[in-house]
Amino acid sequence: MSRISGTSMKPVLDEEEIWVLECIKEANLDRGFHIRDIIKKAKTEYGLSRSTVYEIVGYLEFHDLVKTNKLGNRELDPNIQYCVTCTSCGKEIPGNEYIKESGRAICEDCYLEGHQRIKFADPVAVRSKRLFRKQHGFEGTEGLTELQKEIYRFILEEGGATPEKISNLFKLTLQETRNQLAILRHCELLKWRKMGEEMYMVPFDS
Ligand SMILES: [Zn+2]
Repeated sequence: MSRISGTSMKPVLDEEEIWVLECIKEANLDRGFHIRDIIKKAKTEYGLSRSTVYEIVGYLEFHDLVKTNKLGNRELDPNIQYCVTCTSCGKEIPGNEYIKESGRAICEDCYLEGHQRIKFADPVAVRSKRLFRKQHGFEGTEGLTELQKEIYRFILEEGGATPEKISNLFKLTLQETRNQLAILRHCELLKWRKMGEEMYMVPFDS
């Protein structure tokens, strides 16, 4: 465990280390956390052994992510920067930018890649869709289906929504939802925005 990010000198955490960090984040109180809580949590949620947890906490301490406070408790230092490796493409990403997908940490690109059949930001598709709409004199939501208009209006009113929410509300499968959203993205009516750990569709000019 001695990987250091080449450019930034920030520690690069692997999957198990991220799991332990997640457990610590959930168990970290204002007075710090107890390692026995982390061991219990990491074992139940991720099947990590006691010695692995000790080893990883030691690694986090080595990089100052975990410190011992005045009360003698371990606590997480939220100001220390770290990187994680995308479990899908292996790219290094800042620790505050990864997305959790079924317990795995992945980068935004892989998240989008995995969630779309149509490439959302494909410039050719955007251009051809816009050209088609222009040739037909379409403005704004003109030329869209009723469903697409409704989804668009909903997102305008809400300021943003996840594909999952749209899918539930409009009783569409997630794939159908993504295809509808892709069309709205191609028309430059909507765009993606990461909020917290989730991707939202938001109005294009927001
Ligand atoms: Zn990736």
